[in-house]
Amino acid sequence: MMNFVICHYAEIGLKGKNRRFFEEKLVENIKKSLTRKKGQRPFRARILKVKRISGRILIELKEKVNEEEIKNSLKNVFGIAHFSLAVSCEQKIERIKKKAVEILKDKVFKTFKVETQKSKKDFPFSSQEINEKVGEYILKKSKIQNPKSKIKVDLENPELTCFIEIVEKYAFLYLEKIKGPGGLPVGVSGKAISLLSGGIDSAVASYYGMRRGIKIVFLYFYTHFSSIEKIKKIVEVLNKYQFKSRLYLVPFLNIQKEIFKKTEPKFCCLLCRRFMFKIAEILAEKEKAKALITGENIGQVASQTLENIGVSARAINLPILRPLIGQDKKDIIEKAREIGSFRISILPQEFYCQKFLPKHPETKADLEKVKREEEKLDAEKLIKEAIKRSQIIVI
Ligand code: ATP
Ligand code: MG
Repeated sequence: MMNFVICHYAEIGLKGKNRRFFEEKLVENIKKSLTRKKGQRPFRARILKVKRISGRILIELKEKVNEEEIKNSLKNVFGIAHFSLAVSCEQKIERIKKKAVEILKDKVFKTFKVETQKSKKDFPFSSQEINEKVGEYILKKSKIQNPKSKIKVDLENPELTCFIEIVEKYAFLYLEKIKGPGGLPVGVSGKAISLLSGGIDSAVASYYGMRRGIKIVFLYFYTHFSSIEKIKKIVEVLNKYQFKSRLYLVPFLNIQKEIFKKTEPKFCCLLCRRFMFKIAEILAEKEKAKALITGENIGQVASQTLENIGVSARAINLPILRPLIGQDKKDIIEKAREIGSFRISILPQEFYCQKFLPKHPETKADLEKVKREEEKLDAEKLIKEAIKRSQIIVI
């Protein structure tokens, strides 16, 4: 029976042109989120319109939509602070009163309040007056229906709130505010390349990048074809936030073999990481991406030290974002479960170097030493070749 969805976003810091850009992206992403799933009826069959109205995004629904499906989609659209499925009526106080009673008809409650938000100056009553008038009418009607009715107004802790919004030419009424995921609409902050390993952390790091409005291009270095399906599945899960993704698959076996053959074992992880970053930087330029994102963390494993992070990062000039830097593993796992990536990330995965990892990897790497090791390799040739053999898939 609800025929509208009203999406609210946090407006802080949004002015002029930025605000318009933000709102247009949000509209675009809402449309994508509502049409995304395979097997769903097409957008046009369920939605009439998505448009901006003063400080909100309004979705006009066709009859008989699946409300749960709409809720589940919108919960993943970054930029939405909260949203509500609402009914509308003519912008007249008598109509609003009747509509309020109508939406409360089947509800069981003892205490309630009316909460009005008015974004239209020339409506003849203040928010407070609307609350009172509608509240009184609800009480009166409940007494008529059942003279023993004990329904009361409770402004502090009501069991039920009837929300009213007076905005532009509309009057909306709803009973539930559903929390959105917050953040910024994907795409408003530009593009970054996320190094996706298949593990728990990098999937969660990608989520946090998207949550701040970054459109992500994924990059995976593989040593065995068998792991590619797993990576694709993770990207599919993350697609519920950005709808469509590009995934680079770069062969890495030759580089790892060269590293093991020619350099000191304790530096292998660092050298690997530096190669990954160098390749990522070249692909970022191609993609016009402005940063890299990794799932790096401090102290999670012995080799994740400030020294090592520094030595890896200094292979390139591009900024590297590490959204998980301050998080505990248990919180990262909790987030991974919420996103839905956890159950895929923990599946087994082939990665060549894991069989040869040194017993004592370097934990306080020295840049000059690592560079001297790197000079034993023909980095330029290895990188060129890996990029030449890489492929892009769209998921
Ligand atoms: P994750 O849980 O993301 O695998 P991790 O705790 O295993 O991380 P590392 O193995 O040190 O940590 O990797 C750190 C980061 O390097 C990863 O989060 C990811 O961003 C990147 N990375 C590692 N291996 C790969 C790979 N094969 N392809 C792409 N990126 C990778
Ligand atoms: Mg890993």
